[in-house]
Amino acid sequence: MSAKGPEDLFFHGLGGVSEDTPAPSGSKEDAHIDAVETAEAEGLDKTAQQVNRPVSKSNLFSHPEAHPFVLDMALLKTFQLDWLKWDPDTLFSEIRETFSTSVADVNRMKILATMTLHVVDAFWEQWDVFENTILALNGVIPRIGHMQPPDAALLMAGVDIVASIREEEYSDEVSRYTAACLLNEGVTYAPKPLEFCQQYVSQPRYHCTHCGKKGSALPPFDGRCDSCSRRFEDHPFNFKPAEDAKDDKKDVEYSLTYDPSSVKKRYEELVSLHPSKVRIQETADDIESARLIIATDYMSLRRRQRDRQLSQIKNWMVTHWRSTPPCTPHLVTRPRRLLSLSRSEVP
Ligand SMILES: [Zn+2]
Repeated sequence: MSAKGPEDLFFHGLGGVSEDTPAPSGSKEDAHIDAVETAEAEGLDKTAQQVNRPVSKSNLFSHPEAHPFVLDMALLKTFQLDWLKWDPDTLFSEIRETFSTSVADVNRMKILATMTLHVVDAFWEQWDVFENTILALNGVIPRIGHMQPPDAALLMAGVDIVASIREEEYSDEVSRYTAACLLNEGVTYAPKPLEFCQQYVSQPRYHCTHCGKKGSALPPFDGRCDSCSRRFEDHPFNFKPAEDAKDDKKDVEYSLTYDPSSVKKRYEELVSLHPSKVRIQETADDIESARLIIATDYMSLRRRQRDRQLSQIKNWMVTHWRSTPPCTPHLVTRPRRLLSLSRSEVP
């Protein structure tokens, strides 16, 4: 029997069993395929070595896996707040000269994304800025003008990275877009840090027991039946209930279009298990939970990557700080957390 391939390992990880594949024959075509696969494997090994090499002051900006938070910290420490006012050409030129390095395309995107997070609120307000920023922070170069809905893993990791840089409230527009991305992937439960979009994923509905009307209970629904409150009759485009309409909030019953409770329960049950004990069945709840576990694992991987890279350049980061930390409201806490790596901690 041949060695286990990725598909066998995948099935094994899911608790399933795949059929044995027949042993390859010894034809010339097979030999050619073997040679190509060997070359590809060697190429992948080389790429993996480059990707996994530690970051340092000299390779941080050219390293394809540089974490956006680490790039952001390096720029804040080197240029203070000045770089937030520079245009991209000036910024990348300054980086090249200061660090004697090139700047990888993926890192240009990450840097511009973090710069946007610092200077404007568009990430939390506009779905298209949100989408492009999430992709850029995950090392995916966005195709401007094209819609590229991120999957649950990219969303989770991206929102988590943003929270380490700046925290703001998400607008209805961005919450609705995030919910649409999750539903598009068949996900109905939005665990942290995506909980802000749960109500748009669940899509609450109301049923008026007085007149029988059914409708959406998403914001800006105020708890009053659209028909009984006559909100569309007396003052068109006002959308406020008529003044003489009786308050019918007690006549309204609620339900969810996509109830997350069973998936939430199963997901939390699986997450609490040791990975070796996890067995995914072919049920809707298990399949959705598996997607969420993969997404959570990816987010954790990016956190570990951030912490590892920060420790790899800790000496330089601590000693390179020119004066006081930058002081704008959202910049105070996070950089200082890093700066709490006091000089006494440096070996
Ligand atoms: Zn009604």
